[in-house]
Amino acid sequence: MANDLDKNVDVSLKKFRPHGGWLEKPTNIQPPLEGEINADVVIVGAGYAGLSTALELAEAGANVVVLERDFAGFGASGRNAGYLAGSMGVEFEFFLKRIGREKAREIVRFYDEGVAYVEGRLDKLGIDCDYNASGIIRAAVHASQEKRLRKSMELGLELGSQTEFLDQTEMRARGIPPAFLFGCYQKHGGTLDPGKYVLGLRRAALKVGVKLYEQTPLVSYTEGPVVTCDTERGRVRAPHLVLATNAYTPQLGLLGNKVAPLRVSAIETERLTASQLESLGWQGREGIVTPHFTMESHRLTARNTLVITTKRLNYVYGSKTPNVPDSTAYRELAVALNDRFPTLNGLGIQACWSGYVSLAYDALPVVGETGANQNILYTAGCSGHGVATQSLMGKLLSERIAGSEHPLLSALRHKSPTTLPEPLQWCALKFALGAANRIDGYINRNARRKKLE
Ligand SMILES: Cc1cc2nc3c(=O)[nH]c(=O)nc-3n(C[C@H](O)[C@H](O)[C@H](O)COP(=O)(O)OP(=O)(O)OC[C@H]3O[C@@H](n4cnc5c(N)ncnc54)[C@H](O)[C@@H]3O)c2cc1C
Repeated sequence: MANDLDKNVDVSLKKFRPHGGWLEKPTNIQPPLEGEINADVVIVGAGYAGLSTALELAEAGANVVVLERDFAGFGASGRNAGYLAGSMGVEFEFFLKRIGREKAREIVRFYDEGVAYVEGRLDKLGIDCDYNASGIIRAAVHASQEKRLRKSMELGLELGSQTEFLDQTEMRARGIPPAFLFGCYQKHGGTLDPGKYVLGLRRAALKVGVKLYEQTPLVSYTEGPVVTCDTERGRVRAPHLVLATNAYTPQLGLLGNKVAPLRVSAIETERLTASQLESLGWQGREGIVTPHFTMESHRLTARNTLVITTKRLNYVYGSKTPNVPDSTAYRELAVALNDRFPTLNGLGIQACWSGYVSLAYDALPVVGETGANQNILYTAGCSGHGVATQSLMGKLLSERIAGSEHPLLSALRHKSPTTLPEPLQWCALKFALGAANRIDGYINRNARRKKLE
């Protein structure tokens, strides 16, 4: 079967986009930091977490400096799939036993509030990022996925995650492409253009007076009542440091024993013609994810292309995060395109890219503070759910810096499991991801066979 599919999938590495398919490097790159400055808060990393925290603090009158190694949006925030998703699809079963039912309910609330937070911010900051509040469907591609889907949905409902089951008739009535049989629907949330969103945050931050230094990697920091951050040609001193570096945090010598970076990949097709779009139906353009062990995500964009992500995750030995193509993942995503949208046979792929998320072994966010003065804050471990949550984190961290603790921040505090040392982590993750691929591959082969019957 793999050989048959090979004929139909062509993802040339000429299509690789090192910054993802949504954004170009801004033309007004902010100059690197030179010399010594002081601030109320220094934030490292200009993704959703860093920029949202900076905006919240600057709006409250603080003098905020952001240091970004490349440019704002270079990380996962500029290259994700753009699902503004609440609690649906969260791996409840991974953490329920560990943290108990009461805390799990609060964590569900955290995921759902993230959606409302971003919607409010888009409105307030006037960011147009093609947000379509369509809701999101976790849709099965084979009957054998029903048990797992329903079990996860029931557990979610018990914990306060509002979803409903859509049977085949309801899916067809919505015009969902027929490869997606039935599903679990969450009304809130939807899809947006992540590049426009992060660049909108960047614009808003600059407007409110945040001092953003791009092409300025943090080289080292020294703790104390006033933290000192050293860059190649400069130094910032501030009473608070926020490390919003997510998957890259272990490279700064922090959280290496709590999170592992995972590479997530994406492909984007050429534009669909009007008749191709019509052949799909899919009037509501709901974001679709699947209940595979490593999910697939399928969405239409405002420019009428299809973006397909995930399906194959990768871990690089030593928690490294090279910005390189992942041709195996692109090929697998192209197979998923053929499998789920057979009527689009021959539709070309215009871009492929990869980025890094960080994963804790319990799949929960890793947020807290460190240092003798507890004034070095960090946020990571958002797995693949950071559009909403890493944005909301800006509010939680800014309140914490201002001296009060939001109940959702208290709910997130827990002891994250300790990761394995290398080479054990590499072996364990390769084994786990490989096992997930094998089970998913079996489901996909059955789904293909069923279609031929
Ligand atoms: C392909 C893909 C698809 C995804 N799809 C979705 C989705 O649909 N929905 C969803 O909710 N989530 C999704 N995610 C996850 C989501 O994108 C992330 O959780 C989120 O963007 C993380 O935001 P962040 O600000 O914490 O980190 P990032 O956006 O990664 O930002 C970290 C920043 O820190 C900078 N940095 C690193 N080291 C240094 C240093 N030493 N000095 C200065 N700066 C530094 C980096 O350059 C980067 O800009 C996806 C991720 C990927 C890769």
